[in-house]
Amino acid sequence: MSARPSSTDPVPAVLEAVRSVLGTPSGSIALHEPEFGAREWKYVKECLDTGWVSSVGSYVDRFERDLAAVTGAPHVVATVNGTAALHVCLRLAGVRAGDEVLMPSLTFIATANAVSYTSAIPHFVDVEPASLGVDAHALEAYLRDVAERRDGGAFNRRTGSRLRALVVMHVFGHPCDLDALGALAERWSLVLIEDAAESLGASYKGRHTGNVGRLAALSFNGNKVVTTGGGGAVLTGDAQLGRHAKHLTTTARVAHRWSFLHDEVAYNYRLPNLNAALGCAQLEQLASFVERKRRLAERYAGALAGVAGVEFLREPPHTRSNYWLNTLVLAKEQAAKRDALLASLNDAGYMSRPLWTPMHRLPMYEGCQRMPLPVTESLEARIVNVPSSARLAS
Ligand SMILES: *Cc1c(COP(=O)(O)O)cnc(C)c1O
Repeated sequence: MSARPSSTDPVPAVLEAVRSVLGTPSGSIALHEPEFGAREWKYVKECLDTGWVSSVGSYVDRFERDLAAVTGAPHVVATVNGTAALHVCLRLAGVRAGDEVLMPSLTFIATANAVSYTSAIPHFVDVEPASLGVDAHALEAYLRDVAERRDGGAFNRRTGSRLRALVVMHVFGHPCDLDALGALAERWSLVLIEDAAESLGASYKGRHTGNVGRLAALSFNGNKVVTTGGGGAVLTGDAQLGRHAKHLTTTARVAHRWSFLHDEVAYNYRLPNLNAALGCAQLEQLASFVERKRRLAERYAGALAGVAGVEFLREPPHTRSNYWLNTLVLAKEQAAKRDALLASLNDAGYMSRPLWTPMHRLPMYEGCQRMPLPVTESLEARIVNVPSSARLAS
């Protein structure tokens, strides 16, 4: 008998499937690139024509209102980038020096860095394969083991530190299990924060992501679903937190006709009007972006359906993903083929990328406490993202 199916090399078949979806490129097809229409030119030109390019101008207010309408979040504050938005979320969650913040190791570096900016310490948790988001079940079991409840909070038995918050992330636009994670946060008196940087336009049980956590952060970096060049936003349902978010991102200046009075140490994190103008135009296209990205995902799923040794990651049950980045997961016995697959796709002009190096393996975070991370480790060895721009489906 010849080789068993599981040992068949999936690389040529995946390359063929990707080619059937994207065609043969003349140059290189980017992983994710922005798309600008006439409105982007119009709104940005208006800023240049009027001189309102910086910290004053009407587009910031409009962008915040538009984001509130799109996400359903009652209070929205635009920021210079998503990392700054996360930093503000953590500050507003009451995270203090020496606290520990539970967060996935499987995330982009910004999540962990924002925790460090508050002088708190990341405490890494594992994820589940269906959503790539935090595994509520495994985390509950872990907390029973390492944490104790007292004085209205949860404390790490080993370090004695307060476990103040739980940050969850909607990986590649696939919403994580917010019902289970919200209930867990409640049980353990953790402030739930959603890193929704990748999930604009994605919903969980009909609700836009970013509405279950007390606070959430968005990003509008150049590679995200919509871009402002660089930008981010804080979302919250709490009016007081919303006001405080605005205050913290605008140097905590007390309103006055001429006095420079500031009442706490704060930040210059305000999104410039020029970037907000771009964002307003981009939001008008969001529905079209998401619709086309979902169509592209459908095409990948169809093309890869018959390919042995690899699975196309579908949106988890009860969610509507924005399919920010399309994701292939190699079967466990094919993990050794990941780099050959990356080389083959990139050589053929299909820009493809592995998962981020997990946070617990980076030098500045390798000493942080963590629960066993078998799923994170396994997925890191097997995931490949393939070109995902909306225009590829048109
Ligand atoms: C993009 C991103 C951010 C924010 O990044 P900025 O470049 O600062 O806007 C945060 N978390 C995750 C998971 C991201 O993908």
